[in-house]
Amino acid sequence: MENLIIIGTGCAGFTAAIYAARANLTPLILAGNMPGGQLTTTTEVENFPGFPKGIMGPELMMNMQAQAERFGTRIEYSLVTGVKKVPAGHFEITTDDGTVRETRAVIVATGASPKHLGLPNEKQLIGRGLTSCATCDGAFYRNVPVCVIGGGDSACEEASFLTKFASTVYLIHRRDSLRASKIMADRALANPKIKPVWNSTVIEYLTDEKGEMRAAKLQNLLTKEETDLDVKCVFVAIGHVPNARFLGDLVDVDENGYILQTRGTLTKTEGLFAAGDVADHVFRQAITAAGQGCAAALEAERYLAVQGVH
Ligand code: NAP
Repeated sequence: MENLIIIGTGCAGFTAAIYAARANLTPLILAGNMPGGQLTTTTEVENFPGFPKGIMGPELMMNMQAQAERFGTRIEYSLVTGVKKVPAGHFEITTDDGTVRETRAVIVATGASPKHLGLPNEKQLIGRGLTSCATCDGAFYRNVPVCVIGGGDSACEEASFLTKFASTVYLIHRRDSLRASKIMADRALANPKIKPVWNSTVIEYLTDEKGEMRAAKLQNLLTKEETDLDVKCVFVAIGHVPNARFLGDLVDVDENGYILQTRGTLTKTEGLFAAGDVADHVFRQAITAAGQGCAAALEAERYLAVQGVH
C-alpha cells in the first residue's frame, strides 16, 4: 500500500512531490502521457520567480523532477484510467497496462489540455508560432502582427494582453458576436490594436522556410472566401479540457469540467486532493499550480497523520 500517489507531472504534481517526499511520505508519481505538463510545450519561461534571466520550460520541469527525485519520489510512466475509493477507506488506482495500485491518499494534478483546431501541421508548430498561452509567449512577438482564435473571455483577455507587444492583434471568431462577458468584450473591442475578423475560421497554418508560422489561411464562413492573414503567431483560445473525467463521481466538477475544491485543495472525497489547472480555470499559471501542489501535499500530510502515517 502506497501512502500517496500523485497523478500528473506538471508544476502542481512535482511541487506536491517535493513537499510530500521531504515529509517522508515516499510519494509515487504516475506520469501519464504528457510528462512535464504544459510547460514542456513552451519555450522560455520569464515569469517563474527565481530565474531573473528566464528558463526554458522543459528545463524548469526537468529541474522540478530532479528535485522531487532527490528526496525519494518515485516516478512511473503509466496512464491512469480509473480511481476508486474502496469501503476500507483507501484508493485503488488502475493504469492503462491493467495494474491496480493501492494508496491511502491521492493528489490529482493532471492539468488541462488546451483545445486545438485539429489542423494537420499544428503539432509541429507548437512553440514555433502556435501557442495557447499569451502570458507565456506574448513577449516574444513584439511589433509584429499576431492573431487570437476564439470569442470567449480567454480570447479577449489574451488579445488585450497581446496589444502590449504586437503591432496588430487580429481576433478571429467564427460568429459575429463575442461570447465573452460584456466587460471583457467591450475592453477588447475598444482597443485600437485589436481588429476583429468576424464569421471566420482558420483552415490552414502557413509556414516560412524555417517551419515557423508565416500566415493563417482564413475562410469567411458566410461567403466561403479564403484569405491569407500574415501573422507571426497564432494564439488559440478556444477553451481547455480539464483532465478529470477518469475520476468519475469521486469529484464534483463545474460546467466546464473543472474539479470543484471544497476548501483549499480538498475535494468532496476525503483523501483525494486536487491541485493546479485541473481545478483552476482562472489563473492557469505555472506558479499558481505549484502553489496549489504545495498546499495539496500539506493537506495530504495532515490527512495521513490522522491515520497514523508519519
Ligand atoms: P469558452 O468560453 O468556452 O470560449 C471558447 C470560444 O472558442 C468560443 O467563442 C467558441 O466559439 C470558440 N470555439 C470553440 N471551439 C472552436 C472551434 N473549433 N473553432 C473556432 N472557435 C471555437 O472558453 P474560454 O474563453 O477559455 O473560457 C472558459 C471559462 O473560463 C469561461 O467560464 C470563462 O468565463 C472563464 N474565464 C474567465 C476569465 C476571467 O474572468 N478573467 C478569463 C478567461 C476565462 P462560440 O462562441 O461560437 O461557441
